[in-house]
Amino acid sequence: MPHSHRIHLMQSDITKVNTDAIVNAANTSLLGGGGVDGAIHRAGGPAILAECRQIVARQGGCKTGEAVITTGGNLPASYVIHTVGPVWNGGHKNEPALLANCYRHSLELAEKHGIKTVAFPNISTGIYGYPKDQAAHIAVSTVQDFLQHHALPEQVTFVVFDQDNLSLYQRLLKKPD
Ligand code: ADP
Repeated sequence: MPHSHRIHLMQSDITKVNTDAIVNAANTSLLGGGGVDGAIHRAGGPAILAECRQIVARQGGCKTGEAVITTGGNLPASYVIHTVGPVWNGGHKNEPALLANCYRHSLELAEKHGIKTVAFPNISTGIYGYPKDQAAHIAVSTVQDFLQHHALPEQVTFVVFDQDNLSLYQRLLKKPD
């Protein structure tokens, strides 16, 4: 598997993960929500929301598939990269390309900021209802493809929360015997 030494898997609460940046599965308003978004704002404190509000004032939120960056506030991570996953609508509303864009744009932003280590949650697979197996394939292939062409980030960690995603990612990231 190409670049497998640069891709890691852990089951954890992403707010506790000690990478340079963690990615948030945000919504277009950037003003907080449920799931991992709520957890990140609760753990990271008001500095994150304050920067999100500045971004909203400047550019009016964040489109689906795009990404923006803020401080990590009180989190172990220095930065939070907020990306907006697609809501699953049956699969014929460009969901796969939009989900791939989330991973690609988050990685581009990390690279631009010289970030060496970044952790991703399983974007869109909670409240937004993206089928977990399809989302996992897109996540892994998009990250692998990006790392093949870029030196930064040096390391990407997929942070899974539930057992389904843990099994899916274990299978996809299995090293060849
Ligand atoms: P979305 O709206 O993009 O579906 P959610 O936050 O509802 O976002 O869910 C995205 C994924 O994040 C789900 O797989 C969910 O289980 C997971 N998740 C929820 N809370 C956390 C957390 N604290 N750390 C890591 N992953 C989390």
